[in-house]
Amino acid sequence: MSEERSLNFIEDIIERDLKEGRVKSILTRFPPEPNGYLHIGHAKSICLNFGLGIKYGGKTNLRFDDTNPVTEETEYVESIKADVRWLGFEWANEFYASDYFEQLYGYAEKLIERGLAYVDDSTSEEIAEQKGTPTQPGRRNNYAERTPEENLQLFREMRAGTYPDGSKVLRIKGDMSSPNMLMRDPIIYRIKHAHHHRTGDAWCIYPMYDFAHGQSDSIEGITHSICTLEFVPHRELYDWLIEKLEIFPSRQYEFARLNMTYTVMSKRKLLQLVNEGNVESWDDPRMPTISGMRRRGYTAKSIRDFCDRIGVAKRENLIDLGLLEFFVREDLNKTALRRMAVLDPVKLIITNYEENKYELLPSENNPEMPEKGERMLHFGRELWIEREDFMEEASKKWFRLAPGSVVRLKSAYIVRCTGFEKDESGKLTTVMAEYIPESKSGSDTSGIHAKGTIHWISAPHAVTAEVRLYDRLFRVEDPSSEEGDFKSYINPDSLQIISKAYMEPDLLSAVPGVPYQFLRKGYFVLDSVHSKENHLVFNRTVTLKDTWAKEAKKG
Ligand code: ATP
Ligand code: MG
Repeated sequence: MSEERSLNFIEDIIERDLKEGRVKSILTRFPPEPNGYLHIGHAKSICLNFGLGIKYGGKTNLRFDDTNPVTEETEYVESIKADVRWLGFEWANEFYASDYFEQLYGYAEKLIERGLAYVDDSTSEEIAEQKGTPTQPGRRNNYAERTPEENLQLFREMRAGTYPDGSKVLRIKGDMSSPNMLMRDPIIYRIKHAHHHRTGDAWCIYPMYDFAHGQSDSIEGITHSICTLEFVPHRELYDWLIEKLEIFPSRQYEFARLNMTYTVMSKRKLLQLVNEGNVESWDDPRMPTISGMRRRGYTAKSIRDFCDRIGVAKRENLIDLGLLEFFVREDLNKTALRRMAVLDPVKLIITNYEENKYELLPSENNPEMPEKGERMLHFGRELWIEREDFMEEASKKWFRLAPGSVVRLKSAYIVRCTGFEKDESGKLTTVMAEYIPESKSGSDTSGIHAKGTIHWISAPHAVTAEVRLYDRLFRVEDPSSEEGDFKSYINPDSLQIISKAYMEPDLLSAVPGVPYQFLRKGYFVLDSVHSKENHLVFNRTVTLKDTWAKEAKKG
């Protein structure tokens, strides 16, 4: 939405910093850990960081926070880059925290030399036990008495591979009675004999998050390091390290994570859904991942508009999935070509229309964009219509087909229903009607008023396609906050496959990423994974109206 909004608190800070000359220009970064695909929460962070760079004439780096060798993969790096670009952003530099390993190691030696870090041989249990509790101070063990010379030698041996995993760590000499537990001699290096996706086997010690993130910010000269609220307690250490190392004074600011209803937003949980087969893949159209949303037909613009609209909060909240869908509809309404598709087909025979005769009737491609022109539809004796558009015994409020009723076929004629047929099981097979030749759309002189308009498709001209309808992935608003395993709240009906729908023949040339509105049925897009040349598969991106809001009102 383009309405003017007031500055968010980060913009306030940036404008003040620029005005007071603390910074000349701003440099932000988006720092994903390449251990999964990006989700809509990351999109929020991307739009914020890149958006600030653009708004204030600054720049934004893409930095892979790849300090954990075990969970990171190159596949994730590639998907992250593709997703950021698809969202519409370009980074000033592509950096990797692992590129700074040597520099970070140097910083660690500097701290050791100054008596600000020591090698500790305690087990992780001992370290945890000595840390104390938020109300009780911790206590330092004897390893903290080691001299800088001794520490330097041990640390160099750690790097050289002398010691096994977990046998030693490097710790900051912080404050064991600090009310901030993270200041109680935090670990900054651990031994891990593991292959790294970029540095290979060059290292067997790896820096911890707190000793990589802030330092990477400084190395790059990041002015405003924006992260989510869970890092508030880390800020003290972030500032402490900058001060002690005398490096570029980046500053950290925190905002609330985006949480959305009816989904989960943690890479760990999303990975679980993929690995345990609850969804097809990271880009399953039901996933809250950027790649899933793209495959489903959400547009980059709708995601950016959504992120802009929800703003930057300082307190955690749960955003309604319906709000995102609102922006998807708003964008697709403007851009999607209109087509007719019948998802649950029943024959409609126009008994007074000559057999083997056809005519071509024009229909608008998009009433919101007249410049998109018209297409020609075949009309003839045998059509497909939607099963739900016929009712054997209809009430007065029914404006579609029923014995004796009149209805307009979109862009074609008014027809009057004259009969219907069922099979032995009682299932409707055919509806019969007579068309009114004077009622042709655009030149209607019939004087008949049809209250309802339905979509249809010429049976001999229709192409068949599979259609996939999606529902929300979870049955409850906030599966992560429910009792027990979040997976027990999965919606078992989140995917409905219609194996044979009929649609306009030009949909044979549909390509993924180009949206269509199937009249009265919603917005659809070709599926990029399952669609093959002789087997079209369409995903429903979103319905035309917010059906859940309606249900909620009904109660
Ligand atoms: P997850 O918990 O889903 O694994 P993460 O925070 O570990 O996410 P990172 O790769 O470290 O994932 O995140 C990269 C950036 O995106 C960080 O700055 C992080 O704060 C931000 N981010 C992650 N999730 C959200 C969210 N839900 N809302 C806003 N920003 C987020
Ligand atoms: Mg993280």
